[in-house]
Amino acid sequence: MSDQLMLTLQAALQQLAIQQTEATLGDRSTYLGASDIGACPRKTILRKLHAPEADLVTLLRQRRGHMAEEVVAAAFMIAGFSNFQRQTEVRHAGAVPVMAHLDFVFISEVRKTMAVLEVKAPENIPEHPYGAWETQLYLQMGLLADSFPDYTVEKGAILAVNFGDQGMRLFGGYTPQDTIYHGLIDRAATIWNQYQAYSAGDLATPSMEVGPLCGYCPFLLDCPKFEAEEVRELTESVEVLLELQHQQKDLEAEVNYRKSNLLAIVAQRGPLKTCGHLLRKAVRTRKSLDADQLNQFLQGYGHSLNDFQKSSSYAFLEVKKAA
Ligand code: SF4
Repeated sequence: MSDQLMLTLQAALQQLAIQQTEATLGDRSTYLGASDIGACPRKTILRKLHAPEADLVTLLRQRRGHMAEEVVAAAFMIAGFSNFQRQTEVRHAGAVPVMAHLDFVFISEVRKTMAVLEVKAPENIPEHPYGAWETQLYLQMGLLADSFPDYTVEKGAILAVNFGDQGMRLFGGYTPQDTIYHGLIDRAATIWNQYQAYSAGDLATPSMEVGPLCGYCPFLLDCPKFEAEEVRELTESVEVLLELQHQQKDLEAEVNYRKSNLLAIVAQRGPLKTCGHLLRKAVRTRKSLDADQLNQFLQGYGHSLNDFQKSSSYAFLEVKKAA
């Protein structure tokens, strides 16, 4: 019963996603959207030709994105803003079909200016905005400026909304950048040409760009880049991870050193105040099982601790020197 209910819910969410995509984004195989241009070309092209069915987590993530937009729109309305449009569609005027749907465009008819606000709903709000978010925003501002030549696109911002502990965070201060915009349009032309050639059978493999997000790519298993024994393009990601792990160890050692020094002081002197903080020695009691005693007890009943232990597995990343 409950399995059936889950399947029904997932199928309904899938249908909802398809309906919403068709209603707002149209047939995505006929144009390149802002997220297509920033992604690996092979992934973008295969996704257009063989769109994979989204799993439950992806479907829920999509819904979270829509919910964030609705929350922000409702807040703007209550705050008395009425000078914005939602889901403004903008297209590139050139031969390559590039199109974007802007979450919020604020318009001043008096000053003839526009500003773009892109809403994101990440699992965790990063310290700095992701490169892909910024790429999308630059493309949106460029397309908006091209589509509305009577207006000046003044600025853009990214609003990250987190439904957990982090709340909201605004990344602002972006202005249209011609060089970045034209670079993105050139990149779009290359991807589009490869898309046409691959669809016609004139290109065996589109360009591939290995990156840290390959693990979320539905075309990894048959990706030629991952057929090789050594994937050199991941070098930077692994080096950054190793460096961070080093820093983490050093940091932990430094934290423990400082903690024990301060504890040694308050252990002798008692609680003290410094820089608005109260330092004191605290004692917590933790209960632990006396395994030996329990084992002896169980043996009296013909059992041992092993009879009540079970194994469970979990996945983790192991990094060690290759032979
Ligand atoms: S696995 Fe990585 S390189 Fe291969 S297609 Fe996917 S994103 Fe591109």
